[in-house]
Amino acid sequence: MSTPWPLASGPEGPHALRPLLDTVLTALDAGSRARGGPLPAGGPRAVTARVRAALPDALPEHGDPDALRDLVHTLAEGSADPADPLCAAHLHCPPLAVAVAADLAASALNPSLDSWDQAPAASALETLVTRALAHEIHPPPAGPDALMTTGGTESNQLAVLLARETQGPGVRLLHGANAHHSLPRAAWLLGLPDPVTVPAPAGVLDPAALDEALTHLPGPHLVAATAGTTDAGLIDPLPEIAALCAAHGARLHIDAAYGGGLLFSARHRHRLTGLDAAHTVTLDLHKLGWQPVAAGLLAARDPADLQALHHRADYLNADDDTDAGLPDLLGRSLRTSRRPDVLKIAVTLATLGRDGLGRLVDQVCDRAAEFADLIARHPGFDLYDRPTISTVLFRPANATDTAVAAVRRHLLTDGRAVLGRAHADGRLWLKTTLLNPQARPDALAALLKLVEGNTPG
Ligand SMILES: *Cc1c(COP(=O)(O)O)cnc(C)c1O
Repeated sequence: MSTPWPLASGPEGPHALRPLLDTVLTALDAGSRARGGPLPAGGPRAVTARVRAALPDALPEHGDPDALRDLVHTLAEGSADPADPLCAAHLHCPPLAVAVAADLAASALNPSLDSWDQAPAASALETLVTRALAHEIHPPPAGPDALMTTGGTESNQLAVLLARETQGPGVRLLHGANAHHSLPRAAWLLGLPDPVTVPAPAGVLDPAALDEALTHLPGPHLVAATAGTTDAGLIDPLPEIAALCAAHGARLHIDAAYGGGLLFSARHRHRLTGLDAAHTVTLDLHKLGWQPVAAGLLAARDPADLQALHHRADYLNADDDTDAGLPDLLGRSLRTSRRPDVLKIAVTLATLGRDGLGRLVDQVCDRAAEFADLIARHPGFDLYDRPTISTVLFRPANATDTAVAAVRRHLLTDGRAVLGRAHADGRLWLKTTLLNPQARPDALAALLKLVEGNTPG
């Protein structure tokens, strides 16, 4: 071999990767054991010190062949592990092993989805999988399409961009007070009129307030509703909102970054009734889809809307190449080089099937319902509400907001639990977003004990 640094693809690739993978897996195991909990103890100072010790010089003059082992160990030791049942703050899922294994192949082969000659099979796979997922959202007779994105943020940006391109630069975004921050930010990024925040007094967008805003504000309008709010996992009244949009001629986007996963569950998909009325829908399979980041999608009911993204670069999609039948991929993203994130998704859907994925969704929803029951029965805690998806908000009874914030930070710093926080009803709540289908009820009981034992005052 001419270089000591073998390549991941090519005839030697798999052979070169095998011992390196062994190193990675051993270091993951040792690092996770060294952590011994859902996240590293000691807070940012201790973690930074350990990282610095492992990497005294980020660009040394001469390399160290043990860097892979040492840095993977350091990362594992210093990670928040979403597979630990006490790591439940965010929409941060434990990825499926099969999806991660597929992602390794994506990295090794490194197809790039900006032109067919860099990604022949990956682009064909992307077409199949995005169409299938688009049909889940917009069933026949619609002929929908979906684009792969890096996640909910990019999907929401694209949705606002498509609204601008179809409705004109004066289109005004109306979003609930419960909407994801990336929506008003997209309006800012795209130079649109200042967005209007519609009240969401009970955590979901208030249709009467939306009707009022649509009646009094000059159009054109883009309404953004949420199916699965980030703070509480609530679903806006989609059919009512869709009817209002139809009556006022407004364009509708539904951010289903979180709730979209309910589509896989026969028990829960009815909660998304009305989703198909949206012009565009955000999905995020690195939430209720158990994918490693990134695994976002933007579905469009009318694929003609996506024409706005059409773009020409002679080296990637020359007209004569396109005329000769080479697929034109550049208009399927605002990015140029693009990872085949579709592979892990395709592998997951094909391996688990709808029933396998649906069962994972059902399990996390069941866990959340059980956890809520546990809290409701416990005299020491207040429950915000029964979960709609898998988010449970609770707080120690009679605690101040300061004490609620303090217990969260205390458990975080000790490395014992990762809880989120959310304001609702004018108070601060502890948030658990349960995305681990294997979490056992006794782990959740232990979590309550931890909170109880560590709340100040
Ligand atoms: C997580 C989330 C997003 C952002 O998704 P990213 O993948 O983090 O970019 C957008 N909307 C909602 C409702 C979310 O929960």
